[in-house]
Amino acid sequence: MQKAEQRSTLVLENYIGGKFIPCQRHIDSYNPSTGEVYCKVPDSGKEEVEAAVAAAKEAFPEWSARSPRQRAEVLNKLADLIEAHLEEFAQAESRDQGKTISFARAVDIPRSVYNFRFFATSILHHTTDCSQMDAEGCLNYTIRCPVGVAALISPWNFPLYLLTWKIAPAIAAGNTVVAKPSEMTSVTSWMMCKLMQQAGVPPGVVNLVFGTGAKAGDALVGHPDVPLISFTGSTATARRITERSAPYCKKLSLELGGKNPSIVFADADLDQCIQTTVRSSFSNQGEICLCTSRVYVERSIYSEFMVKFVAAARKWKTGLPSDPSNNNGALISKEHLEKVRSYVALAKSEGGVIHCGEGIDQLDLPEQNRSGYFMPPTVLSGVGDSSRVMQEEIFGPVVCVSPFDTEDEAVARGNGVRYGLGAAVWSRDVGKVHRMAKRLQAGMVWTNCWMVRDLNLPFGGMKSSGVGREGARDSYHFFTEVKCVTIKH
Ligand code: NAD
Repeated sequence: MQKAEQRSTLVLENYIGGKFIPCQRHIDSYNPSTGEVYCKVPDSGKEEVEAAVAAAKEAFPEWSARSPRQRAEVLNKLADLIEAHLEEFAQAESRDQGKTISFARAVDIPRSVYNFRFFATSILHHTTDCSQMDAEGCLNYTIRCPVGVAALISPWNFPLYLLTWKIAPAIAAGNTVVAKPSEMTSVTSWMMCKLMQQAGVPPGVVNLVFGTGAKAGDALVGHPDVPLISFTGSTATARRITERSAPYCKKLSLELGGKNPSIVFADADLDQCIQTTVRSSFSNQGEICLCTSRVYVERSIYSEFMVKFVAAARKWKTGLPSDPSNNNGALISKEHLEKVRSYVALAKSEGGVIHCGEGIDQLDLPEQNRSGYFMPPTVLSGVGDSSRVMQEEIFGPVVCVSPFDTEDEAVARGNGVRYGLGAAVWSRDVGKVHRMAKRLQAGMVWTNCWMVRDLNLPFGGMKSSGVGREGARDSYHFFTEVKCVTIKH
């Protein structure tokens, strides 16, 4: 399959009711490391969404009537099949998204497999509530039922990983789904569709409609027969989806952007902190909603931190995604690269200092990759907290560092943005760590580590970073409706 893809332009088809359905209109999809069109993605609209929702509705009664154990078997089979093709999926993800092959092999595809395995088992272990029988002999208990056709919309930074994080809990709970990945990274979810039949996923349980947010996404979220929407993407799009779905009172789960602070106290293990903070700032080209964007360092260690941090950032190698020794590949698109660069230019125009990266460090790229969307890890300082550079999500390999003097100041500045997704605290003082964790406005606070996840526990953000949480119990609650039943003897 890979060789054929490289030779000619790959043309994707929608997957509706268990069949691949060609689309007459297409969108160009670029290889970020060369800047060349290599794939044509269906430009679906209302008609395709209508067909997919109808297929999902038709499949719902049978699928929702299956036991959790029967559904779990299908999820496990799908996990096994993706795992059996791990290398093909990793190659495709790296080529489509620009991320390194090492990252796709170690993170994206294994985690996609694990998403199915995790929800296949967690669905077997939920319990519901039951009250004591009251004096009148009434017993109250709850039951949970799947909701119906779920719309699942995902972004481009972790294409298969984030879509399977939605598909797995949705279908495990008995819903059927219409999923729309980002138009920029649709290939691996299309590849997954090829495994559905073999895994025993009945036609119509999982439907994939490819296309833009403005057309396919809008038609999906505005469809009256879609009662719930799980969305991961930008805060601006979430606003639009909220408005569009409000007249129908749909259930919404929104996982959005971040502007995550890392707060480094003088008593931190500096070597461990620097190693992790370079990774948290630049992994996946900085294109992770949880990436560190602002680093506040206690003034007494600020100079030492800067010297060591900039040296470590310079060692974070950017180059061809296909070279397993590289830490970073290419950014997703030309427009995104220009946007990320514009923040560095803005910082400079406001008197900020560029310590390494953009405009300073040159990348040595082969001729055929000179039009790719590469950017070296960039460290800035001297940028004011009110600057757009410190307030807006950049979503690229750029991090701003600033000194602080007191714990109160660190909390106030850490919280001084409209986002509230993740935060990191570096200190060996357990009391300080607890105080900071309580006061920081973030859905996830990591101390002396970053992005360590237990999928049982809630994932999500506060403020403009989201509405709702995902995880074993949270996803189960989102993808089911609870009913309270009262029985009088
Ligand atoms: P985006 O909001 O532009 O697009 C996300 C998805 O929404 C895409 O599939 C897009 O086609 C679709 N879409 C766009 N407009 C739509 C509309 N009007 N109706 C329905 N669907 C629409 O986001 P992006 O640029 O793809 O991704 C980057 C953003 O995602 C960043 O803000 C990042 O922080 C966020 N993100 C958040 C998390 C999280 O878990 N909190 C994880 C990854 C990425």
